[in-house]
Amino acid sequence: MSDVSVKIKTPQTGEIELNTGLFINNEFVKSVDGKTFEVINPSTEEVICSVAEASEKDVDLAVSAARKAFNGPWRKETPENRGKLLVKLAELFEKNAELLAAVEALDNGKAFSMAKNVDVPGCAGCLRYYGGWADKIEGKVVDTAPDTFNYIRKEPIGVCGQIIPWNFPLLMFSWKIGPAIATGNTIVLKTAEQTPLSALVACQLIKEAGFPPGVINVISGFGKVAGAAMSAHMDIDKIAFTGSTVVGRQIMKAAAGSNLKKVTLELGGKSPNIVFADADLDEAINWVNFGIYFNHGQCCCAGSRIYVEESIYDKFIERFRERASQNTVGDPFAKDTFQGPQVSQLQFDRIMGYIEEGKKDGATIETGGKRKGDKGYFIEPTIFSNVTEDMKIQQEEIFGPVCTISKFKNKADVIKIANNTSYGLAAALHTQNLTTAIEVANALRAGTVWVNTYNTLHWQLPFGGYKESGIGRELGEAALDNYLQTKTVSIRLGDILFA
Ligand code: ADP
Repeated sequence: MSDVSVKIKTPQTGEIELNTGLFINNEFVKSVDGKTFEVINPSTEEVICSVAEASEKDVDLAVSAARKAFNGPWRKETPENRGKLLVKLAELFEKNAELLAAVEALDNGKAFSMAKNVDVPGCAGCLRYYGGWADKIEGKVVDTAPDTFNYIRKEPIGVCGQIIPWNFPLLMFSWKIGPAIATGNTIVLKTAEQTPLSALVACQLIKEAGFPPGVINVISGFGKVAGAAMSAHMDIDKIAFTGSTVVGRQIMKAAAGSNLKKVTLELGGKSPNIVFADADLDEAINWVNFGIYFNHGQCCCAGSRIYVEESIYDKFIERFRERASQNTVGDPFAKDTFQGPQVSQLQFDRIMGYIEEGKKDGATIETGGKRKGDKGYFIEPTIFSNVTEDMKIQQEEIFGPVCTISKFKNKADVIKIANNTSYGLAAALHTQNLTTAIEVANALRAGTVWVNTYNTLHWQLPFGGYKESGIGRELGEAALDNYLQTKTVSIRLGDILFA
């Protein structure tokens, strides 16, 4: 065991060795001033281990490594090889699915079965997909005059800073590195301070896959220190962020006040989930339940505002209440667990604060509303009814297993209230009428609209926000644009001789 690794234990794998250093130049290193911070298990509130904590000095070292790689070996790498490396990493994710999922469940609190069957395959799919794009980045020739030759090249932006959240640590890691690597950039990625561990396992795999040193650097650390240093760094060319809208604004400001680095943001949401009277009720209830309670409500696209057509409201709420209270909440490593603990004390307190606020404002709790047990950050699946559009629980992102439910009269009415939010990340509707589906989907101001389903993201499909939910798109071909810049080369030719 080196001085930057520890032994930790997961119920799934038993004892494993974990590197805890900052991953710079393909090595796990201590932070410059030797600082570390503790990582907490949200199921037990106990310390799992400590990991190196990056300061501004460590950010500088990681950026230098990424710059050196960008200016050197990585620029000489062929697109084909960049693709092969991503595909190799995808294979290693699949080979190590059990380990990755176990560390993810331990650190984040999500169910091990979800981590293994949803998160890790999602990572592998995304990495492999972008591996396929690496040798398909193409430019163009544009004729403007007979004596001029113009070509347009798509070039990498350079050193990319990437800051990810704690709700899907491994997935966000893959969503970020896939398109950046496919397009030939180098990376300094900061994980969230609540959940640094699974990325440290992934760093071992990056090394094993054969990425040259300095191409992908990963640091653990706090937003206010390492994250802020990245956003203001003069030698980071682009920053990609996923997290809260509040922090997104700070990052944009820091970018504006430094080197005007390019910024893409994937931020919060308060997504409407609309059920029309003609929907298949059983299906709709399942998807509404999954829409809000998947990942314990810790999804930026969670369907947290549910609108049900008047004529089926009473029947719907009765069945939904029953369905929500059946979700198994408990130990992430138990076989039938659907919902584990919230990620941290801070998140737990925030969510319980919103529940209190809802009660004070006069909303009715249909089910849930309380902590579950007395250890770990578990919260019962909660439904509020009797809400008004101006209530905090109806307007603000709660990021927990809490939703509101209201009635609506008709299409026009529901489109208006569904769009009555500063966010625009996702929306959904349930109906068997094709015209209703298309009309409403087109009218909703959101980056993704699901019909008769929810949370079914796919790496081939762009994902991102309208309004204050973000700038730019993750996933799909669209994400490549975030990491490319366009160069026009215009060449004056001599006299052209036409025979
Ligand atoms: P949450 O409130 O859900 O924890 P945040 O938006 O605060 O979400 O965090 C998402 C990511 O942003 C984390 O990696 C966090 O460390 C980082 N972060 C937080 N504050 C800042 C900041 N001021 N500058 C840059 N990154 C930050």
